[in-house]
Order: sequence, then structure tokens, then C-alpha cells
Amino acid sequence: MKNIAILGSTGSIGTQALEVVRANPARYKVDVLTAQRNAELLIAQALEFQPEVVVITCEEHYAQVKQALPNTEVLCGEDALVAAVQLPQTNLVLTAIMGAVGLKPTIAAIEAKKDIGLANKETLVVAGELIMQLAKAHGVKIIPVDSEHSAIFQCLTGEDINDIEKIYLTASGGPFRGKDRSFLAHVTKKEALKHPNWVMGAKITIDSASLMNKGLEAIEAKWLFGLQAEQIEVVVHPQSIIHSMVQFTDGSIKAQMGLPDMKLPIHYAFSYPNRLKSDFERFSFLKYPQLTFAEPDLQNFRNLQLAYIAMEKGGNMPCIINAANEVVVDAFLKEQVGFLEMSDIIETCMQDIPFIEKPTLNNYLETDQQTRIFASRHVTK
Ligand code: MG
Repeated sequence: MKNIAILGSTGSIGTQALEVVRANPARYKVDVLTAQRNAELLIAQALEFQPEVVVITCEEHYAQVKQALPNTEVLCGEDALVAAVQLPQTNLVLTAIMGAVGLKPTIAAIEAKKDIGLANKETLVVAGELIMQLAKAHGVKIIPVDSEHSAIFQCLTGEDINDIEKIYLTASGGPFRGKDRSFLAHVTKKEALKHPNWVMGAKITIDSASLMNKGLEAIEAKWLFGLQAEQIEVVVHPQSIIHSMVQFTDGSIKAQMGLPDMKLPIHYAFSYPNRLKSDFERFSFLKYPQLTFAEPDLQNFRNLQLAYIAMEKGGNMPCIINAANEVVVDAFLKEQVGFLEMSDIIETCMQDIPFIEKPTLNNYLETDQQTRIFASRHVTK
């Protein structure tokens, strides 16, 4: 029996994680469920899975959740996430919340020696070096849930990490693959939210459309697998069947494949180091006679390039692009900025926020706040 805390249980990853738990009731027990503001779904989940602790971070919904769950410990506020990940019986914390807000509970979980199912890429983007050092110091495993990183993690089973020559992160290219800037200048929120292959939350879907998601994933991969920027290559693969690949020093390449379904990497993270049977739909080669590959378009999709610049620069620069990106994506979803303006504002932040070469945790938290304020000013202009 594995005891799991799910941070962000009402989101896309959270609800799929609960499907995995539901299908394997003898193996997994849910200790903690948390949501930002979807009180109704959180209550329904708590009634079904009977966790010990429930957290609603948005305080205005606290009374409603508390009243509906008289026999459960109900907490509220972001600090409650830090407390919730430290229950003695919890083995694994699935970090499925969106954004840099995942940083503090992830650190708390690592310090409490809980393994991490990492579905919050922003944590590694913001403070990857610090998180990986902390995990090593506490003997904690970080098991990636992001499909690309799960693919690489699976390809590395039985391999020596020093034998990696490079990795290929596959990208679907999103809904605007092949479009130019004059087209992109006028795309709407509705169009950007239609991802061709993956069903995901709004923020990551916009990030996929702008290729920022792949940029953030490159930074995530750098820290997870101890790579240099030049060892991480993005390749556009519109079918999303190969989830990513590792090329070893002898020239051999391993790929991990399957239908695009986030339940698979979640299932693997939960069962790791074992593989458990599942009844997920199987891939058919005959239905996909062609798997195609192309170079990413860095001219029209500048975010990917900005993320690589940030990765190479290091320090607090990835933290800057992440915070700026969270602000502009939110503004795009509120129809306050255009699609291309998102990259412009991120670039302005990269130029104007003070660079710190060796940031502390406090430096990261300050940079995050400072960038959000600065980026918001450009949004309301
Ligand atoms: Mg991904």
C-alpha cells in the first residue's frame, strides 16, 4: 500500500491521478487532497477517497468545505499545503498544482523525506539546483510525471546517467504549428486552448501553443537529469506518440512511446519502481503508419528561444521567465494581451529584472514577486 498526498486534486493531473487510484484501490490510499478554489469537486473527492487532510487554499471557500466534511481535518491558505505534505504515513507527494506556488510545499515534502511525483514543472524551472540538491541530501526520489520527462526517466532505467549523449524532447507543435507572426498576432484564447493531442489545464495548454511549455520542459530536464543546454534538443513530432528519447554515447537511441494519455506517466510514477498492469487503450502502429519529425520554429515562436537563453544564463533568469510567463498567460486568458505580446513582455522582464548569479531561496522568492509586479505593469499598459 502506498500513501499518496495529491496537491492540486481538482486540476487535470489531479483528477486523472484519482482515476488511477480508483482503478487500484488495494495499492493506493489518498492521505491529502488540495484545491485552490474548486470547493464542490474537492468535497466530492474527499467524500469518495476519505483523506485525512483536505486543504482549500482560497480562504473564501473554507467555510463551505469545512461544513461539508465534518469528520476530516480541513485547512485553508497556501501555508496549509506545507503542513499537509508532512503526514507521517505519506510515502509520495504528487505536486499537481500549477505555478511557482508549488515551490514551498515541494521543499517541505522533501525535507519530510517524502518521494515526489513531480507534475509541477515550475518548481524545477524556478529553483532546480536547490531542489535537486535538497532531494539528494534527504535521499528523496523525484519521479517526473511530465510525459516527456517520464519518457526519459523510463528510458534511463538500467542505464548510467553519465552515458547520456543528448536527449530529444518531443513537442507536438501545438495548435499553431506552421503559422507565421501575422497569423499569430490575431489568434484568440479559444483557438489557443484547442490542443491537438493532449487534454490539459488552461495554463499549460497556452504554454504548449506558445512553445513556452517546451522551453520550461528543457529547463526541467536540465535539472532532473543533470544535463547541459546543448544536450537537450527539441524536435517537433505532431503525432505525440514518441514522448521523448535518449541518445547514448554509443549512438544508440531509446524512445518511450504510447498514446498521449497523462494517466500513463501518473500510473508509472505511482507504481515506480514497478510496472503495474493497466487497461489504458493500446497504441496501434497500423493506425499511425507515419511518425514525423521537424525542427521547431524559433522565429515565430520566440518563447522557446527565450527559455534556452534563460537556461544558459542560469541564476535567477529561469525564475524571471517563469514568473513573467505566469503573468502574461493569465493576462492572455483574460484577453488583456495578444499572443505575440506575451513573448515581448517576458523579454522585457529578462532585460530589466536584476540578474542574480547564485540565488538563495529568498532571492528566488523575491525575484518571483518582483517580476510579477513588473510584468503586470506592462500588461495594464
Ligand atoms: Mg509535457
